[in-house]
Amino acid sequence: MTGFQATSELSSWGRVVRARQDVVRPHWRDQLAAAVEEAGARPEGGLAVGLARSYGDSGLNSGGAVIAMSGLDRVHSFDPATGVVRADAGMSLDALIGLALPHGWFPAVVPGTRFVTLGGAIANDVHGKNHHDAGTFGRHVRRLALRRTDGSVRELTPDDPSGLFAATVGGLGLTGVIAWAELQLSRWAGAFLDSEDIAFRGLDAFFALSAESVRTHAYTAAWVDCTGRGRNLGRGIFSRANPSPDPRRTLHRPPRVSIPVDAPAALLNPLTLRAFNAGYFALKAARAGRRQAHYDSVFFPLDAIGAWNRLYGRAGFYQYQCVVPPASARDAVAELLAQIAASGEGSVLAVLKTFGALPSPGLLSFPMEGTTLALDFRNRGEPTLKLFDRFDAIVREAGGRLYPAKDGRIGAGMFQAGYPQLAAFAPHVDPGLTSNFWKRVKS
Ligand SMILES: Cc1cc2nc3c(=O)[nH]c(=O)nc-3n(C[C@H](O)[C@H](O)[C@H](O)COP(=O)(O)OP(=O)(O)OC[C@H]3O[C@@H](n4cnc5c(N)ncnc54)[C@H](O)[C@@H]3O)c2cc1C
Repeated sequence: MTGFQATSELSSWGRVVRARQDVVRPHWRDQLAAAVEEAGARPEGGLAVGLARSYGDSGLNSGGAVIAMSGLDRVHSFDPATGVVRADAGMSLDALIGLALPHGWFPAVVPGTRFVTLGGAIANDVHGKNHHDAGTFGRHVRRLALRRTDGSVRELTPDDPSGLFAATVGGLGLTGVIAWAELQLSRWAGAFLDSEDIAFRGLDAFFALSAESVRTHAYTAAWVDCTGRGRNLGRGIFSRANPSPDPRRTLHRPPRVSIPVDAPAALLNPLTLRAFNAGYFALKAARAGRRQAHYDSVFFPLDAIGAWNRLYGRAGFYQYQCVVPPASARDAVAELLAQIAASGEGSVLAVLKTFGALPSPGLLSFPMEGTTLALDFRNRGEPTLKLFDRFDAIVREAGGRLYPAKDGRIGAGMFQAGYPQLAAFAPHVDPGLTSNFWKRVKS
């Protein structure tokens, strides 16, 4: 198959890097073999991509070839009695929920957007608000087919002795192209959750609420006011939820509005950020309490607004997401929040969450037991990167690591420090595949 077309339109979700790449969009399963082999034979190598919901540069391959997988989205089989589904890797969670929920099933793990493909969810071994209960996405993969650029196809299961399954889950698309995957879904009565919002005044309160809630609730996460200083440092809203027995299986709707143009860069400045965060905290604290909520508003609030990444203006934005282990979590998160508040930067979408102890199946999976903090920063160039260097020092000192799906800047040292299984992973890399991220960190 030829049909690769040069484009500079593909960018990552943060839109900081725009890369010229040759893209092919297969729509039929039998087109995939030639696309993968041809991409792999190119001097700059190939890479599979899903719906480009990764913020940094792990889904980009500047000057190389990219196989856009979202046209390969057919279901192979679905058993409504057992909740086992097998589908092309380009199928989105959006479509999977549409298929499964009417039969009383839901993906076991979902990230904060349903516009991700099965292949992308496996390659980043994504986590959701139920990490303490269900672990990562990869724990629910029963089998997958991996197409390598040498023309071979491997069917892999979690007990694969070669280590290729473990390398592929969380393997950033570097071990081969996932053609299809078989998943075990979770039983859900309907489409609703019984949820509760609780305002908290500082990090000690967050950690206490988290420790209590992981025993009683399947889903937990907190919004934190990243502009709060002094006695407001670490204040936020803790949200926890369990699937409701309500049998109504109402599906989500498509995005209601879309951001048509890049917002002016001046819109998000330290003043507007502080005002928004203070207002948001006051509003949510006043409305705190228990309610029944649809899964779409609990898991995917941002999906209601199409192309919301344009709100950060043409220069784009970074997301900084780290995880720090339990022993150092309290101090490291406090230090990070203090630095963020002092910088006046940060976002309206700062999320704090406790990861549980369930091990991830992937060699390079991001989640580990501890506390994760994620927030967006508009791209101001050098000052933003300098700020991140200071965060890196805190995370590294605490024994933590950063999430490659959200990164677009760390060097080899920071990556290697956070991912001790890198040496076991490296031999499984398909020599015909690479990405901007990998070129940057592998040395
Ligand atoms: C609003 C928002 C909220 C988010 N919330 C979360 C969250 O809560 N938890 C979380 O973990 N992540 C979260 N993310 C990140 C997102 O879930 C991941 O980046 C996800 O992997 C993106 O999937 P995608 O299909 O868009 O893949 P892409 O971003 O296109 O690609 C991601 C990686 O997968 C590889 N890949 C894609 N398809 C294949 C394939 N068929 N075979 C092999 N490799 C492939 C690519 O090479 C790349 O390395 C969020 C992102 C957004 C925008």
